[in-house]
Amino acid sequence: MSFQEKSFKRFALQTLTKSPYYRPYNSNTLQDLAHISVIEKSQFMEHFNTINTLGIDKEQALQIALEAEQSRNFTPQINNVTIGLSTGTSGKRGIFLVSEDERAQWVAMVMSRVIEPKLFKKQKIAFFLRASSNLYSSVQSSLFIFEYFDIFEPIEQLAAKLQQYQPDILAAPPSMLADLAKRQEDAVINIHPHQIISFAEVLYDSDKIYIEKIFRQQIKQIYQCTEGFLGVSCRYGNIHLNEDIVYIEKEYITHNRFYPIITDFTRTTQPVVRYKLNDVLIEKQEPCACGSAFTTIEKIEGRSDDILLFHVTNQFIKLYPDLICRKIAQYTDNFRAYKIVQPAWDQLHIYIESAAYEEAKVLFTQAIESLFEMYSIRNISFSYFNTIPVIKGNKIRKIERTFDEHNI
Ligand SMILES: [Zn+2]
Repeated sequence: MSFQEKSFKRFALQTLTKSPYYRPYNSNTLQDLAHISVIEKSQFMEHFNTINTLGIDKEQALQIALEAEQSRNFTPQINNVTIGLSTGTSGKRGIFLVSEDERAQWVAMVMSRVIEPKLFKKQKIAFFLRASSNLYSSVQSSLFIFEYFDIFEPIEQLAAKLQQYQPDILAAPPSMLADLAKRQEDAVINIHPHQIISFAEVLYDSDKIYIEKIFRQQIKQIYQCTEGFLGVSCRYGNIHLNEDIVYIEKEYITHNRFYPIITDFTRTTQPVVRYKLNDVLIEKQEPCACGSAFTTIEKIEGRSDDILLFHVTNQFIKLYPDLICRKIAQYTDNFRAYKIVQPAWDQLHIYIESAAYEEAKVLFTQAIESLFEMYSIRNISFSYFNTIPVIKGNKIRKIERTFDEHNI
């Protein structure tokens, strides 16, 4: 019996039997998996109450997650299960559940695959995160010390804190790494991490080259989403899928481009079974020099939102796409789709398709203004449209900046 077969059998027995949604399928083998229908985010949320194995109610969990996001000073939990809020490519809010055990397992997996331990010295890890969460900050071990950096704080503050901390390992989304590299180049900070890890966003080649040049380190790239730890780059810079812990089916669009459908053997609270992601993966045809037997990914398409830029007194303020989407998700979910375009420094075009368009307009305004207030951004004019312009090419963008930042 293959390793995957064994893992699935255990997962089916220990987890799927506890899920009212999956129990009737009575799956025991990977072949049985084919009888379970593929699920996407909207259905995953619709069946939230019966999919999760602890009988947690969606509305209650959502309420707690939203309150936590607003106050930012407690970690949302129900019965020791952490509730996370996600937005993803559609901008629709999703909630995910992670138990203490799953969290510990996640960290152990990431550690063993990503971080190179050094003997005789505790590694200081600076972890930049998008939302207040003790998912990682609670982790302490004899080998590592975590310091958690809240991305919501102004970059100057974060840079100062980082300078003082002097991390051995720097882990952050690529847009943040690029920001920090710029500060290192300008001699605002002077840090010497011996390992750099990127996650949560796509790492563009131009950013990769720049960051690696400034810090003189190769970036280790994690491919991850709220639904799982999907892959990690090897020493040749290629991302390999974690096909030993996540079973990945490929829905091909062209001969080498596919949507991954994932079944995660490690999840116990909210089983992820044949879950179709929005990401489009491009498979590399040639085997990787590192010898990995797992699928090699050449590129991840479909997550290409821009960072919005604003002028406040004498400095630039960057608003990250995820920050904006999360803020909107806090205020409303009553839309079919939206797109926010920044055509100039002081302008925003907001496209919302919603049956309750007038109400959505008000809520979007409130959401964005509350963000602007946090960053002291003023005098921005808003224009509203009730249909989204046709998308050029195959990049899905919810947040787009169409002016050139160098053109001040
Ligand atoms: Zn490789």
